[in-house]
Amino acid sequence: MTGLPDLEVGCEICGLRSRRGDLSLEEFTATIPAGSSLHLPSGIAVYDRDAEPISMIHWMWLIEFHPEYKIVRHTHSGEGEPWISTVWLGLDHAFHFEGDQTPIIFETMIFGGAHDQYQERYATEEQARDGHARAELRVTT
Ligand SMILES: [Zn+2]
Repeated sequence: MTGLPDLEVGCEICGLRSRRGDLSLEEFTATIPAGSSLHLPSGIAVYDRDAEPISMIHWMWLIEFHPEYKIVRHTHSGEGEPWISTVWLGLDHAFHFEGDQTPIIFETMIFGGAHDQYQERYATEEQARDGHARAELRVTT
């Protein structure tokens, strides 16, 4: 796994787009001391945007160096107006008490306005994009 798909994502408006560094996943991994427990399976379930399992170090590298990877979609409607953020979380936010083991790794949130803090979570990027569209409707109607 190279670690990073070639994505044209991010958000021009709030600037969450540019990479903060050029460390490759391999270089980043090399910065973690050999004895660190981060090199061991963490027991924490983390997944990439395709819902494929990734290592904790890989997840940290994406969070730290590729903020653009997180953003599925942002909708900014203007200064002082509510805005909508749909992101990849990577960490499984599902409570697997019952049979379904599908990881929940995407989230939409509305900030500001009548629906402030409204939240939906999803298993796939496609669901997240659909959910983002629903949130846009919610904000504008
Ligand atoms: Zn934005």
